[in-house]
Amino acid sequence: MVRAIVSGAAGRMGGRIIHMLEGVEGITLAAAVERPDHPAVGKEVGEVVGLPAKGIKISGSLAEVLPQGDVLIEFTHPEPSLIHLQAVADAGKAMVMGTTGCSPEQIAAIQALAARTRLVFAPNMSVGVNLMFKVVGDIARVLSSGYDVEIVEAHHRLKKDAPSGTALKLAQVIAQALDRDLEQVGVYARKGIIGERTPQEIGVQTVRAGDIVGEHTVLFGGMGERLEIIHRAHSRDNFARGAVRAALWIVGQSPGLYDMQDVLGLK
Ligand code: NAD
Repeated sequence: MVRAIVSGAAGRMGGRIIHMLEGVEGITLAAAVERPDHPAVGKEVGEVVGLPAKGIKISGSLAEVLPQGDVLIEFTHPEPSLIHLQAVADAGKAMVMGTTGCSPEQIAAIQALAARTRLVFAPNMSVGVNLMFKVVGDIARVLSSGYDVEIVEAHHRLKKDAPSGTALKLAQVIAQALDRDLEQVGVYARKGIIGERTPQEIGVQTVRAGDIVGEHTVLFGGMGERLEIIHRAHSRDNFARGAVRAALWIVGQSPGLYDMQDVLGLK
């Protein structure tokens, strides 16, 4: 039985992951962690996430509970995620990290630590979105030049980072398929007399409103036609299910950095 520790247990994703762990064979919740000053620390985890009592109190310290688990599932913020990854690496455990909004320096640190850790790090753990990552690269290669690429993402009003990690990954996949450098061709805002669109640019636009769980549209606009690929997440459960699947998978792997394409066998 794989013993999972959930970090960010009182958060939107943490709560759904704890729910998803209930129904999956071969994995169980061993411990739950929150930031030390969170009001849920010391409370029964079942009570906090809306499940029957599990006999587990939410801890305010990963170090305290890390020996009880095989894999840490972390959906929090970049800073604690990196500190927790260091602890997981030192303890020889495995980790699934869904946190987005990491800076290039933080991503470099994650890559360095993953050399000696079993880590799945993915900005979007849904099966549909990971299939989308694969097909947009294929579409971009076939359409090649002559089609303008625009990505539009929409999320709830509480999301802290923009554009979403998923939109950035879609842009990276397409840039790579078209042999373009996203640093040079990414356009994240337009206003005023900005001139004509250049054929090379990849637009990434952000919408924040209400309780939208997550929508991503990739638009390939040609002369006389356009092709759109859209993914709409109806709830957080698809991400949570993917995270649990990744946790079961990563414990059996060699140290290294993996993503959901690896977990789902899409590479
Ligand atoms: P949230 O704000 O609801 O939850 C984050 C939780 O982390 C909070 O409860 C917070 O108290 C907790 N936290 C902060 N510091 C901590 C620490 N030191 N130790 C333990 N817990 C700590 O946010 P959310 O909507 O659940 O999203 C969390 C992250 O997951 C975001 O980066 C979001 O973009 C990302 N996300 C990823 C996917 C994916 O599939 N990869 C899907 C949805 C969200």
